[in-house]
Amino acid sequence: MKNLKLYCQKAIELGMTGAKVIDPRSIVTAEWVRMKCQFGCPGYGERLSCPPYTPSPSQTRKIIDSYEKAILLHLQYKKERDKEKMKNFNFNQAVVGLEIEIFLDGYYKAWSMGAGPCRLCKECNTESLCKHGERARPSMEACGIDVYKTARENGFPIHVIRSHEEERNFYGVILVE
Ligand code: SF4
Repeated sequence: MKNLKLYCQKAIELGMTGAKVIDPRSIVTAEWVRMKCQFGCPGYGERLSCPPYTPSPSQTRKIIDSYEKAILLHLQYKKERDKEKMKNFNFNQAVVGLEIEIFLDGYYKAWSMGAGPCRLCKECNTESLCKHGERARPSMEACGIDVYKTARENGFPIHVIRSHEEERNFYGVILVE
């Protein structure tokens, strides 16, 4: 099977700012993350990719702990500067696309989490089942991951932003094997 560093190179070619093979133990989960979704986010319960539909932080910890290798994916984005690039680049779909490629290459456990709510449908099918289960994935934060600490522990930048004009850092992770 391919060396995981090759998928990191592929991620950069696709448009990611950075990608790194990481130890899944460096992915930090915390119970408080769920509170930020439940009390503080207007999207709570609006999408099947968000709480309360997603695994709890402690469930996510168990899932992560059943892997030995992961790939952390980073996108740095500034609205004005990167407008053109973002017309043809969808971060979450790039993460899922890479996850599927890794799976088809033989890493049968490959599974990923992206950033922010799923936007594949205009309105989410919360009364029933997901309409695009093959490509819909929850975000890292929706599964109780402390994205700030995880990024910093792995040498990547992230900071609290005060406006949508500021440079932002998005993260996704592929649990590989
Ligand atoms: S693909 Fe559609 S139905 Fe599924 S989580 Fe995303 S928005 Fe909801």
